[in-house]
Amino acid sequence: MSSLVIAIDGGAASGKSTIARAVAARYELEYIDSGSFYRFLTYRFLELRVPMEESAVLAALPAIRFEFRLGKHRRKGHILTRELRSPLVESQVSFVAAIPAIREKVNEALRQLVEGRRAVVEGRDIGTVVFPTSPLKLFLVADLKVRNRRRVHQRRGLGLRAGEEEVQENLRLRDRIDSTRSVAPLEPALDALIVDTSQLSLDETLSQIFALVEERLGSPQLTPCPLP
Ligand code: C5P
Repeated sequence: MSSLVIAIDGGAASGKSTIARAVAARYELEYIDSGSFYRFLTYRFLELRVPMEESAVLAALPAIRFEFRLGKHRRKGHILTRELRSPLVESQVSFVAAIPAIREKVNEALRQLVEGRRAVVEGRDIGTVVFPTSPLKLFLVADLKVRNRRRVHQRRGLGLRAGEEEVQENLRLRDRIDSTRSVAPLEPALDALIVDTSQLSLDETLSQIFALVEERLGSPQLTPCPLP
């Protein structure tokens, strides 16, 4: 069965989640956050006390199953939210995500989830690797200072620790690892539309993005799914 995917990629805290959720809500599409799958695996390795070395991670990988239902990762029935955003997960996730076998496992899960559906999928390599035939690929960018301010605000809103310097250092480090890894680095697809949100309010960003969606796809609820 065929699918329709709007791909939204960009660096850490570039606004992907807020924008992807808003697009999904407006056009009644599924919303899938691919980063949460890398966070889930990282969380499980930490829980199992797997040393953060490629060989140890690869040995532990086959025994780990995603428990993803109704848009949430679960562990023995318990929904994981804050756990996936802990500073420890945040400091290790880019190392885990740089391992090719990890990426294959996540990509397979994402493709299965999207099969036959219409979805907005956000991440780093959605337009380049996971869904390269997506008819609309957006790549979000924003200045590091702006992203830092937004992420500190978001973490505090969730009741999580958020020292400004620590957050900025984490964003910078993850972007460096994500952009320089050999497999599926963070980069725009050749046919991606780049949207710089540094100087835009959320409302301005959304109206620009809704206009792009409608220009490219008409109304995605009504657009026939493209054939594979
Ligand atoms: O999007 P989020 O910040 O939650 O992603 C967490 C990490 O997962 C990223 O820093 C990156 O290392 C990894 N990731 C990835 N490819 C994706 C989505 C996330 O490598 N498509």
